[in-house]
Amino acid sequence: MRPPLLLGAALLIAMAAAARPAAAQPNPGWIRVAIARNDPQVTLQILGRYTLFALHTGHAIHQAPRLLSVPVRGVPQGLALGEQIVPFLGVRIEPARDAAINVNGRRLRGTIEIVRQKDMTLLVVNHIALEDYLRGVLSKEAPDYWPEEALNAIAIAARTYAVYQRFSKEAKDYDVTADVMSQDYGGKTAEKVATSRAVKATTDWIVMYRGALFPTFYHSTCGGVTENGRVMGSSYALPPLVGGIVCRLCTSSPFYSWQRRLTRADVAWALRKSRHGSIGTVRSMEVTRRTAAGRAQTVTIRGALRTLALSGYDVRALFGFERIRSPLFTVVDAGDAFVIDGHGWGHGVGLCQWGAAELARRGFSAREILSYYYPGTELVNVQALSQQPIVLLGGS
Ligand SMILES: [Zn+2]
Repeated sequence: MRPPLLLGAALLIAMAAAARPAAAQPNPGWIRVAIARNDPQVTLQILGRYTLFALHTGHAIHQAPRLLSVPVRGVPQGLALGEQIVPFLGVRIEPARDAAINVNGRRLRGTIEIVRQKDMTLLVVNHIALEDYLRGVLSKEAPDYWPEEALNAIAIAARTYAVYQRFSKEAKDYDVTADVMSQDYGGKTAEKVATSRAVKATTDWIVMYRGALFPTFYHSTCGGVTENGRVMGSSYALPPLVGGIVCRLCTSSPFYSWQRRLTRADVAWALRKSRHGSIGTVRSMEVTRRTAAGRAQTVTIRGALRTLALSGYDVRALFGFERIRSPLFTVVDAGDAFVIDGHGWGHGVGLCQWGAAELARRGFSAREILSYYYPGTELVNVQALSQQPIVLLGGS
């Protein structure tokens, strides 16, 4: 393998370490989605015939024509499905072809595994074909009325992100979570015609950078300029995530600009309730350091007792990600309150979805949209991954 010369030394080491022989690679046609991770109980229903297997031996334990809605809990002997005690720490449930599994009201394709963890909570993992998973993701991640080529571009970004997670989480119990920490996944319940059509139209296509997989981060609205992947961790300062792409395309997004007012008391109260703790009466709050793209990197809050330096992410976490929609903001001291003037929604790394929609409206193809937001990348068929050792960029 000859890595590209412009990459930094740390990255070269990461790339070399991540290159694995093909035999050890996971099958990119499937993905493991954590539906529940530390839940004391989930509700399970199976609409149709199913088989229950012991996870560790692979032996069939039980078969039935259906399972009425039951609570599943961890018990000292193993698992309890309603009144029935299953003396195993983990089970796999395989529905018959025409049957469907429902977990906590969400209808899922594929099979599920339920594992009782040491603390008696449950880990529920949905094993699902990648393309089926994407149908349940895209409908949650993009509006179904958007132009076809925008949906196609987002489908390819979502698929690439999933495949990247699959390859980088191989040794873990699951590849992705079902929430926005990975990609929002609604299962079969959430599927819509137009978004499913985009998944089908782009089947197997992903983007790669010089033959390497990287996490194709995307977000709702960049608010004017995309961000460097470094904000997700130093290893994500990658050429296709270099950011700084001026995007005047997402201005029609309802989140293009927004404003929030935080009173001094709001700030003091939020800090007192958080892990940061009280800083006394709030004296000032200002952005003291910005990223090259202009997002708040350090926000300094001075209090009567002490001064606190928070990251843009910390500030969003502190006041709520829905309230402070992005780190692209300015803070103005308006006496009794701080006025936060912001642009965009999300971290700003990678593809801007509202920008992608506008590019599609202007006649650009999915491929052109992807190379606009992920410079230097090309489309690759995921099947090709099984024929060569995969190089992963980013991550630890
Ligand atoms: Zn944008």
